[in-house]
Amino acid sequence: MPPEPYPATDPFWLHQIPEIIPAAELRENEPMARHTTLRVGGPARFFWPARDVDSLARALPRLWEANVPYLLIGHGSNLLMADSGFRGLVIQNRCKTVRVGDPVTYSDCGVSFGSLFLQAARGGYSGLEWAIGIPGTVGGALVSNAGAYRGNIGPLVRRVRAFHDGIVENYGPEWMGFEYRDSRLRREIPPRTVVLDVDLALTGGGDHDEILARAKRYQAERRAKQPLEPSAGSFFKNVNDRDLAASLDGLPEPLKAAGVVPAGFLNMEAGCKGWREGGAGVADKHANFLVNLGDATATDFRRLADRVKTEVQGRFGVLLEEEVLSVGDW
Ligand SMILES: Cc1cc2nc3c(=O)[nH]c(=O)nc-3n(C[C@H](O)[C@H](O)[C@H](O)COP(=O)(O)OP(=O)(O)OC[C@H]3O[C@@H](n4cnc5c(N)ncnc54)[C@H](O)[C@@H]3O)c2cc1C
Repeated sequence: MPPEPYPATDPFWLHQIPEIIPAAELRENEPMARHTTLRVGGPARFFWPARDVDSLARALPRLWEANVPYLLIGHGSNLLMADSGFRGLVIQNRCKTVRVGDPVTYSDCGVSFGSLFLQAARGGYSGLEWAIGIPGTVGGALVSNAGAYRGNIGPLVRRVRAFHDGIVENYGPEWMGFEYRDSRLRREIPPRTVVLDVDLALTGGGDHDEILARAKRYQAERRAKQPLEPSAGSFFKNVNDRDLAASLDGLPEPLKAAGVVPAGFLNMEAGCKGWREGGAGVADKHANFLVNLGDATATDFRRLADRVKTEVQGRFGVLLEEEVLSVGDW
């Protein structure tokens, strides 16, 4: 029997995908709720778990030439995927090679950030203690310059290899344009540019037990503060605004001095804690976490996020910027 033809209404590029990606590795209509930590999101028309970086580097130029809409994801821990999903190819980055060393540690961008920390720590390399408990991949961390406890990935980067404008090339760290929870890759959503691998400068010669002990202290702090329900971490970015910080009674002195206002502080003061839209809620434990209380949809999260933004803007005159990225066909 000949294979079922695609419906005539399907765009031409859709037919190209199984010619570029081995059919045995492709899934069709894969529910994205399975691949995002918010547990929401409709189907990806095609879904490819990419397991080695060379295949990924070979496939991307061909997808580009065929004009295939693609979205590369890591662990989906910073994503709000639309209920209608993504009418293209979702590539899940599962490339996992790490080479810990001096002067640089090499990592594929599909490596889990926590696993990179553990592999480095085993070799006595420090610098990523704060990364334990950030649930994404190294690639996702690069895109948003992930960080915690005053550490960020940006300053550790020495080189990235990226697929950009149709070709694969190496770039220096300045090319990434790192800012607070931001890089050049966030300026085009979904990003067509894909970061394939990275060299990081970690500090060698450390004691494995001491490195682990430092990470465990951060992890304990994190557990005490963060809700257990499914979330995408902090939903909104903190606000850098000295005048606003100075005007807020109740904001701790060190934050006033630094001119930093946590989004969670604004959400709490605006009375958003405990708010609900359908199955999405503002966590009782941390007002910057929007959580899935069981049966939320992406639309519930969108409504809740917009309601919080409107309330905070009305109260403090600040439009909160979202740290979580809305992707898919909204
Ligand atoms: C409980 C919890 C706690 C968190 N705590 C923190 C925290 O302390 N600090 C912090 O910074 N973040 C935190 N986050 C947010 C999130 O984990 C990070 O942003 C993480 O780095 C995202 O990685 P990911 O692989 O899941 O990316 P995804 O969510 O899969 O993707 C995010 C974006 O990056 C793009 N992308 C992913 N990989 C690549 C690549 N290789 N090339 C190009 N684009 C790519 C995607 O297209 C998407 O636009 C937390 C999240 C949760 C759920």
